[in-house]
Amino acid sequence: MLHFLNLKCGTQRNKCSDGYLLRSGVPCVKNKCVQCCIETRMPLSPLDIKKILKVGYGLNDFTIELDDRWRLKNISGRCVFLSEGGCKIYPYRPEGCQLYPLIYDEDLRYAVIDHLCPYGREFTVKKEDIKKLKNLLRRLEKKRRCSE
Ligand code: SF4
Repeated sequence: MLHFLNLKCGTQRNKCSDGYLLRSGVPCVKNKCVQCCIETRMPLSPLDIKKILKVGYGLNDFTIELDDRWRLKNISGRCVFLSEGGCKIYPYRPEGCQLYPLIYDEDLRYAVIDHLCPYGREFTVKKEDIKKLKNLLRRLEKKRRCSE
């Protein structure tokens, strides 16, 4: 999902002793990976939608409603924002994209690195990432309940 052409791979800001920060996207860039932008099902929070609308996109340009949630739209099986140069809205990308490959495993009831990310081991997870993920999931769930 993440590739940001201006990224400086390996800068101190992006790397800790045990791996790259989630938001850095360095493993994505250096491995030329866009796997999580293919057939995305990334949910969108109201905040994400507001941010992307502000950039100038219309709601129908980038959202679909699926399983009671607003999600990023795919075009020909790829995230609508994925271009040859990477994510077209990188600074405004959804909260879930910023945190991926950190996901919440419903069975384990634990935040884990998604095994579908081929370079997941290159990332490091901070306590605040887990807090952000839980907070996001809480907000998404609340929104879903409100719209039932
Ligand atoms: S699958 Fe993992 S390495 Fe590939 S773009 Fe997504 S987060 Fe980056």
